[in-house]
Formats: sequence, structure tokens, C-alpha cells
Amino acid sequence: MRLHFDAGLCVRAKSKSSNCTKCVDVCPSSIQIVDNLPSFAPSTGIQAAACVGVCPTEAFSLSDFSVTEFFFHFLASKVRLISSGVNIPCISVLSVEHLIALALASDEAISLDLAGYEKGSTLLGHIRTTIEEANFILSSFCDKQLEINFVDTPMETQTFMPKQEEASRRDFLRNASLKGAIKQKKAFDDEVNAQMLQQFEIDGTVIAKIKNKQLPDKRKILFTALKRTNTPKVFEILPQEEVSFVSQKYINENCTNCQICYRVCPTGALSSDSKFSLIHFDAMLCVKCHLCHDVCEPHAIGLQSGFEIKEFFEPSQRVLAAFSVKRCNECGNYFTYTGGEQICPRCMTEEEEAFFLHHNAKKMRGEE
Ligand code: SF4
Ligand code: SF4
Ligand code: SF4
Repeated sequence: MRLHFDAGLCVRAKSKSSNCTKCVDVCPSSIQIVDNLPSFAPSTGIQAAACVGVCPTEAFSLSDFSVTEFFFHFLASKVRLISSGVNIPCISVLSVEHLIALALASDEAISLDLAGYEKGSTLLGHIRTTIEEANFILSSFCDKQLEINFVDTPMETQTFMPKQEEASRRDFLRNASLKGAIKQKKAFDDEVNAQMLQQFEIDGTVIAKIKNKQLPDKRKILFTALKRTNTPKVFEILPQEEVSFVSQKYINENCTNCQICYRVCPTGALSSDSKFSLIHFDAMLCVKCHLCHDVCEPHAIGLQSGFEIKEFFEPSQRVLAAFSVKRCNECGNYFTYTGGEQICPRCMTEEEEAFFLHHNAKKMRGEE
């Protein structure tokens, strides 16, 4: 089983300003940043599987195991124990979203077997933190919880889940459409070959993918599981630092409407209208990749202190900023108008440059 990386899905490929290091933080011994993109040795196997679970945009995957397929197959089976080396390569491939969705979609309680992990290891600590976050979020709107177990299943019983029927998965995901969500399905099987430390280049295919807005499968799975859950009577607000995979935002008056954040947002959580006169935000499309914050020069975009659980059940699209836009008298394009001449910044710069050149030429001819 090998680790695959799809550079076109990594937020670092979308902007050199990205500071995302979630994959490196969870597995510093295997993954490092080279030329602004994650790199790993070709021998890297499933010991680095935690990067699959933490990557907000699902840029990492495994060659012979699909987490999405596992989700459907596990629910269809009678087993309610998830055990590393038995029905999953490593529990760390499951994100908080997968765990919440599994707990919601199962009628019986699900146990996670942690017997195979070294006590005190970073990996075990990471898995425990992921389960704790899932349970914390579940406790805010239902009484379901994931259980931790130490079963120590013998290795000879290893049976990774076979592939699930495509049809049932498609049926499930079909209901996952959200306003503004991109329905395109990610193929998990991009092959990566290299001799030394893997390095990834931004070529034509990657550029095409970078421009795509794509909602990760784990978010579609979570949203669909939530749609089948009873709406709580009271909606709690959770501290934003306790929720790692989704966020709510504000934009302050320093925003210049430079358009960068909503152009680079990988999922379409941030968007605008045809005149670029406002900035919309769909919290349920946000994967908390932090890219919009990293690219915003005036630091105008920020995280709300609390995440409203209401978004899980009644997703909203909020207007974070609105601008007065006018057509430029020179080029006819819309621009953010802040007073004065009705000329866009680009035409204004061109006009100033032309003016400077004209006077320079006059000076050289001794006419000034
Ligand atoms: S987007 Fe994923 S692959 Fe890229 S740096 Fe972040 S965690 Fe790593
Ligand atoms: S929030 Fe920042 S990045 Fe987004 S449009 Fe405003 S200034 Fe630009
Ligand atoms: S809104 Fe920001 S943090 Fe959320 S997905 Fe878009 S770029 Fe990432």
C-alpha cells in the first residue's frame, strides 16, 4: 500500500502564500515541505496515513484503500469495531468528519480499537485527539458517542474491506448537494513515481485542477449524514479552536476587495457575484484550510470566536462584505469605487505612467 499525493488539490499549489503544514505537523518524520509543496520518500507507506485524514482538501490518498469506500462498506457490514490492520490500514486515515458521520449513520455504537498503537506515540495521541473532537461535537447535538477499545485482534484475521458497489455510494452522495457546492468527484488513483524524495511540479494538469472548486468527499458524507439526523431543539455555539475542520468568518473594513480570497478558496466557500460587489460565505463548504487568511494582505479576514452548530442543520450563505462597484469610464470593467474619478486602479496606473512618460519626453526636448 502506497501513499499518493495530488498536487492539484493541495492549497500550497493554489497559492505560494499558503502556510498549511497539517500533513507535516502530523507526520514530520515522513513529510517535509520542498519547493513549497509536501514531499515524501517513495518508500513512505501507510505509517504516514495520518496525512490522509488531516488534509483538508484530500490531497493525500492510499493506493489500495479508499476511505470513502470504507465508509459505505463498513456501514453495510454488521461489524461495529474499527481496528487497525483488520478492516482499516490505520485509524488515522479517518478524519473528524468521517468519525462524526460514521457515528451518526450507524444504529449501534462504534468502537475504535487502539490496541495496536504504541503507548505515548504521536500517532496514538493524534488518533485520540481526533476521536475526542468527534465526540465533543457529537455531544453538542445528539447522544451518540464513539467508544475507544483495546481489543488486540490477531493479525491473521486481517481482511481489508473490498470495494463497495459504486451505486450505493453514488446514491448516498447524490443527496449531498449544497448551494454553491461543487459536485465533481475526485479520482483517488493518481499514480506517483519517483526514485528519490518525491517532488511535485505544477504542470498543465495540476493548473487545471487548481482552478477547480471541489468539495472533499468527507464533507459530502458528513453533510448527508447530518441531513438524516434529528435537528436539535437548541443550537450550541462551540469555541472555534475546538473545531478543526469547519469555520465561520468575518471580514473587517480593511478589505480592499482585491478578490484574491474568493478566487483561491478551494471549495467555493467564499464567492462573489458577477460584478464582484460582495463576498459571500458558506460555512458548510469551508474546510478550514486557512488559505483565505494566508493570502489576505491587509489581514481583513478572521475567524469568528464560535462555530454555530446551526450551520450543520440549516446551512446559510452570509454576506461578509459589500462594496460599491461602478464601471470604469476608460475600460468599462467593474471596480470597487471609493470616491473621486470613476476610473479603475489599473487604468489610473496606466494614465499616470503615460502622463509621466509624456512629461519626461517634453523635458528631454527642453520644452518644460
Ligand atoms: S493542503 Fe493537504 S497536502 Fe497540502 S499542505 Fe495542507 S495538509 Fe498538506
Ligand atoms: S478579505 Fe482580504 S483577500 Fe479577501 S478581498 Fe478582502 S482584502 Fe482581498
Ligand atoms: S473559506 Fe478560507 S479556510 Fe474556508 S475553505 Fe475557503 S480558503 Fe479555506
